[in-house]
Amino acid sequence: MQCYGCYKPNIEGYCPACRKQLFDGRRVHSVLPFDTPKANNLEMFQEKTKRLSISGVQLKYSLKLEGKELELTEIDGRYILKPIPPSTHLIDREQAPENEHLTMQIAARLFSISTAANGLIYFKDGAPAYLTRRFDVRAAGSKYQQEDMAQLSGRSQNTHGEHFKYDGTYEEIGRLIEKYVAAYQPALEQFFRLVVFNYLFSNGDAHLKNFSLIQTDMGDYTLSPAYDLMCTVLHTPLESDTALELYKDSMDSPFYNIFGHYGQADFRTLADKVGIIPLRRDRILTQLLSATEQVLRMVQESALSDETKRKYTDAYLDKVNRMGMTKDMIARAMNPQYPGVYSVTDKPTKLTLLDKKVLIGYFDANDQSGVLEKENKYTFIEINNSALYRDTRDMRYVTIVEADLLREVEYPASN
Ligand SMILES: [Zn+2]
Repeated sequence: MQCYGCYKPNIEGYCPACRKQLFDGRRVHSVLPFDTPKANNLEMFQEKTKRLSISGVQLKYSLKLEGKELELTEIDGRYILKPIPPSTHLIDREQAPENEHLTMQIAARLFSISTAANGLIYFKDGAPAYLTRRFDVRAAGSKYQQEDMAQLSGRSQNTHGEHFKYDGTYEEIGRLIEKYVAAYQPALEQFFRLVVFNYLFSNGDAHLKNFSLIQTDMGDYTLSPAYDLMCTVLHTPLESDTALELYKDSMDSPFYNIFGHYGQADFRTLADKVGIIPLRRDRILTQLLSATEQVLRMVQESALSDETKRKYTDAYLDKVNRMGMTKDMIARAMNPQYPGVYSVTDKPTKLTLLDKKVLIGYFDANDQSGVLEKENKYTFIEINNSALYRDTRDMRYVTIVEADLLREVEYPASN
């Protein structure tokens, strides 16, 4: 058995750590005392949820804790319950609750993204649902002031039409964070991490209302924990990769123009535009791009069906490959003990590029390397040029490797 919250080995239900996060330590059953909404019990759901919120295609119900049981409630809700979405337009919709649970857990556990507490729960009839604890309610019941980015940017259906949530850019959200958050630098980094995460995990629905600022007990504003994270491409394969453009005209960037999708360069531009220092930016990118094994392990541990696990993994690996590598990733591949792209080497290195092209040779620093590095490019001498380069030092024999297009660095080269 594993915990229905964090997947850690556990005897039954939720582990002590998840019980604390979700239920203040109470031993709550992982099976709800009622069935999934259907024709013969819909009345009960409707009665208890007169202000039933329907956002997009997802139904949400409000719950409160009574003893060890979660109950539907109209007032004082502390939890949000999302059953399998009813929309028949969605593919594999019965996988949606676990998709959201898994994606939220990956964000929190592997990438230090602050998230709403969450877990998987089951209806009495065995159907799964996603359960999340509201972070905008204080223990005593009063609410923290929360404003989403549509509200903060003055967009509503009235002012910007039906698709107002999708009208804007991530750069604009960054500017709102800078404007309203006192400690905006860490908040901007947190936000950037989340935008890259959403891209890697194919969350194409991270629109203006899925980012919020929330008031703290001190009275100032901070970025709220992340919510509604899921691999949406599994359910709506034709939607665009991102709900918003990264920045104005980002779909016209040099990288996008060549490849037809975003790459690492576009995210670096976003970070630069919102004022994240390059060192921090690159550290965030390295962290997000270096956890492939852990991610694949968590997907395998999840309650997704085998077929959905495969689709989830494929979607993720496709996005990771689009992003290439960072300087630190190459540096560690060259020498884990003393990381450095231009580490002293005595054997050739093998580079595999996104288009599967292979280069064999040596990273070798010259007087252009420093400038190139700022664009994530590195100087490399292919093995068949090495004698000529050694004799002439002519730049003609130098290959400039774009790490944005690198898939793998192998040192020493295997054969
Ligand atoms: Zn747990």
